[in-house]
Amino acid sequence: MSGSKSRFTAISEISNAAPFATKMTDSLKKIWATDVFSLAQMEESLSKSAFKAMKKTVQTGAELPNDVADDVAAAMKDWAMAKGAKFFSHIFYPMTNATAEKHDGFIITNPEGAAITEFSGSLLIKGEPDGSSFPNGSLRMTNAARGYTAWDPTSPAYIMHTPNGAVLMIPSVFMSWTGEALDKKIPLLRSNAAMNAAAQKVLTLMGEEEIATLNSSCGAEQEYFLIDEKFANARPDILLAGRTLFGASPAKGQQFDDHYFGAIPERVQVFMQDFEDKLYRLGIPAKTHHNEVAPGQFEIAPYFESANIASDHQQLLMTLMKTTAKQHGFFCLLHEKPFAGVNGSGKHVNWSVGNSTQGNLLDPGSTPNDNLNFLLFCGAVIRGVHKFGPLLRAVIASASNDHRLGANEAPPAILSVYLGDQLEKVFDDIKTGALHVPKSGGLMDLGLSQILKFERDPGDRNRTSPFAFTGNRFEFRAVGSSQSVSGPLVAMNTMLADSLEWIAEKLEAQLESGKDKATAAFAVIKELMELHSNVIFGGDGYSSEWHKMAVEERGLRNTPTTADALPALKEKDVVDLFESTGVLTPTELASRFEVYAEQYVLSIEVEAKLVIEMATTMIYPAAVKYLSSMASTGFTLEYSPASKVAAAATAMMASVEKLSAALESEHFDSTEAHMSFLAADVRALMDDIRTSADLLETLVADELWPLPKYREMLFIK
Ligand code: ADP
Ligand code: MG
Repeated sequence: MSGSKSRFTAISEISNAAPFATKMTDSLKKIWATDVFSLAQMEESLSKSAFKAMKKTVQTGAELPNDVADDVAAAMKDWAMAKGAKFFSHIFYPMTNATAEKHDGFIITNPEGAAITEFSGSLLIKGEPDGSSFPNGSLRMTNAARGYTAWDPTSPAYIMHTPNGAVLMIPSVFMSWTGEALDKKIPLLRSNAAMNAAAQKVLTLMGEEEIATLNSSCGAEQEYFLIDEKFANARPDILLAGRTLFGASPAKGQQFDDHYFGAIPERVQVFMQDFEDKLYRLGIPAKTHHNEVAPGQFEIAPYFESANIASDHQQLLMTLMKTTAKQHGFFCLLHEKPFAGVNGSGKHVNWSVGNSTQGNLLDPGSTPNDNLNFLLFCGAVIRGVHKFGPLLRAVIASASNDHRLGANEAPPAILSVYLGDQLEKVFDDIKTGALHVPKSGGLMDLGLSQILKFERDPGDRNRTSPFAFTGNRFEFRAVGSSQSVSGPLVAMNTMLADSLEWIAEKLEAQLESGKDKATAAFAVIKELMELHSNVIFGGDGYSSEWHKMAVEERGLRNTPTTADALPALKEKDVVDLFESTGVLTPTELASRFEVYAEQYVLSIEVEAKLVIEMATTMIYPAAVKYLSSMASTGFTLEYSPASKVAAAATAMMASVEKLSAALESEHFDSTEAHMSFLAADVRALMDDIRTSADLLETLVADELWPLPKYREMLFIK
């Protein structure tokens, strides 16, 4: 189908679609985690001693003895086969935002040719996919393609069903033959270990006696768009780039603010219920869902979990969201800015650290003792964001998220911390000495517990901050909707580890000089605030005054594009940070820069080529057809748009010529230069073409227009 035909067919098929099929969903009790090889499941199927060892590994990260792995493998195979699985797969997370899997059968044949099944501990522990086609940022020559996947026993295995069968999925890490991390899980596990080690030091110095292993937690709020799949199929840009490269603003968009928290369209609710049942079966605790700001935009947020599991679950959630949407005739858009002029999508990453003995260290708590630990950990975060803001910006940099950061709908590309009025005052008072430890010494009651708790009231929020304290956690709000949460979590855990090490050193010196704990902690926080309070900002992050003040007075960096932001990964303090904490070697970090830069270059090039193709083969012909139909009427009408159409079509094709020429350039001194060229020149030319094309959309006869329009796609039938 070509021209406007596919658009009109889509409209008519959607209008005449049969009502969706519904089935009542099962009770939560009946479906919860039924497809997960959970601890409870293991307790049933493992020997007492094997279960004990496995539980210790899951809870503390302790090494698992080999013979236990054999027992676990046997139990896992029996469980999976009973659920219809004939294949298993090590599932892993390459350096892109993707999820990767290679399926292997349990089957082998015996000498008599009969099929038997086998799954040993060694098969469970290690896989060997030919990894040469995964991005590795020069970590591996293509002729040395060997890569290993290794089972992560701390993230539970589970079953993925298709209408035709089932596969046992085993969450895994992915590394090169030489042991370098090629994935997003290894650094996450290492960053958690680094944070734990540093936190233990601080808590020990603060006199805590029993300190369980600390873990980071993550609760991610996922925003997304749904459109009819039939419209998506008529738009090459949505299919190949995940966003609309053209499209005039509709007369009605989000200006009525009537979508946010509005009634969810019934068809979308049916999708959500189906999707959430699938999540529940996989042990993913879907907790809230609602309409978002833009028409066609929604959000889902699972209840928070430990960072490693939350990160695996997030990847699974994105995959399931897309496949389930298709089953409901929808196309799910996870792109950060699918439609120009309407709000884009983010993924707020809620993050905290804690353990079973001290609880959540970012919760002010109700006793003075809790408050001191809290102030130290919160101070550590403030220092981290100040010192490593450019790193936090770099880990959320992508061609698609560039459309959001810096636009007046999403947090700016400047990293600052929002604490809320009361907490900001507490830190400020410690800095100026207005808040001090009473003479009596010992533990003082800051008299703050209620005040800090009050801060939990969700009424007080700053939606313009990229990094906000929200009562018992920080919310990193600048993360993009399509991104893996692992990169941000690694950056946050690692910067926290570094800050806690700094704090431990200072605290130790203070304590050695004979100060009591409270006085020592206050002195350290005071010093920290003198160095780092510049990063705290409670005002309007969207305002141009802030943009100016942040850079000129506060010395913060504003890096609006990925081309500006990514090179931070090469800076010495970032290289040192990852090396000193043991999270990434300089080589591993360098490979990440290469992979992310390549992704950026490729995605802009793909979009630019599509812009040229769609402008030339779809939009220009529609304009010409319109002009010729006008000409064939044989007379000129007074207010005819013909001359405007001719001018816009000519301007568009002139820009197409320029963009084609720009894409021919290939001699760049560095990757950075190439990225900057794409960010500035190529993007500007793409915008020029779009401006003309979108004008044409408002002039050319509706019946000739080849692409489904915003007004058709954004409002779900
Ligand atoms: P809002 O939209 O008000 O910011 P939501 O309820 O939509 O809040 O999402 C908040 C997310 O933060 C949820 O995933 C929630 O489980 C998570 N969360 C709550 N407490 C913590 C915590 N201590 N650490 C990490 N995440 C948390
Ligand atoms: Mg939120």
